[in-house]
Amino acid sequence: METRILKGKPIAQAIRDDVSARVSALGGRGVAVTLAIVLAGDDEASKIYSRSIERAAGKLGIEATLVAVPAGAGGDAAARTVRGLSDDPAVGGIIVQQPLPDGIPATIVEEIHPAKDVDGATTASLGLLLAGRRGFAPATPLGVIEILRGSAISVSGRHVVIVGRSNVVGKPLANLLLRKSEHANATVTVCHTGTGDLRRHTLSADILVAAMGRPEAIRGDMIAEGAVVVDVGVTSIDDPTSERGYRMVGDVAFDEMIGRASAVTPVPGGVGSLTTALLLRNLVEAVEHAAG
Ligand code: NAP
Repeated sequence: METRILKGKPIAQAIRDDVSARVSALGGRGVAVTLAIVLAGDDEASKIYSRSIERAAGKLGIEATLVAVPAGAGGDAAARTVRGLSDDPAVGGIIVQQPLPDGIPATIVEEIHPAKDVDGATTASLGLLLAGRRGFAPATPLGVIEILRGSAISVSGRHVVIVGRSNVVGKPLANLLLRKSEHANATVTVCHTGTGDLRRHTLSADILVAAMGRPEAIRGDMIAEGAVVVDVGVTSIDDPTSERGYRMVGDVAFDEMIGRASAVTPVPGGVGSLTTALLLRNLVEAVEHAAG
């Protein structure tokens, strides 16, 4: 069987083009698109990620501002900072970078109004998603939906098996896929470490989504012939043969999918390529909505 490699970059580019046009249209009406990125503490990976969002935003005419909160600021002060941004009409959307340092609880995100929660991080946003109401979903599960849609793979009426039930990937994705709408309407099974016979479930998938954080845990003999395989996982593993000394690996044994799956997403270059573009699409939607 020929296996399609579903690349994220061209789909991400189409999303960025759409965002850029919408930012220009808002600019024409005198409306600026602004994002506040709350960075608490000194986590190096968060700093790198924040700067990459800032750069990507800048290229699309979006003004992203880093709001630094010192690690020792304490939970109350950090919550006040987030609340202040949420109340500020000049701020279109807010993201709070994770992980947060000790002493700053994850609950500070709850200070973001759902209308500005472009990362879909609050329990209010998760609740709206569960209820099928208007709200923002996190970018990674949106990336799964968009890579399938952009590759003309329909999920409607098909059995999607998700391995992973986190609040940022598995659970929101299950709820997005369950919506009674054109690009959803799937039958969804969610697996986790308590699942009795994982292989029995993965073999029954028309579309398998791996979001486990377990390098190459999904092997070729765990999927049905012709299944579509979407790999969300990304783990850095030591690799002395690579220039950097490490490489990024997905949750799927990619080589074992070739010739067996009808389509598979690569890591890197698959779902992960879409996340920043989709975060910025959420942002432009938030600003459009606020502007009426
Ligand atoms: P997480 O919070 O650690 O959740 C992992 C989930 O996988 C849990 O529900 C866990 O089950 C399940 N799981 C782990 N090992 C399993 C096994 N052997 N069998 C069955 N289920 C298993 O991770 P996450 O935040 O959802 O992220 C998942 C992966 O996606 C990670 O590699 C992460 O780096 C990646 N990710 C990528 C992006 C992107 O932009 N591409 C964004 C976010 C995350 P339990 O609930 O029972 O523990």
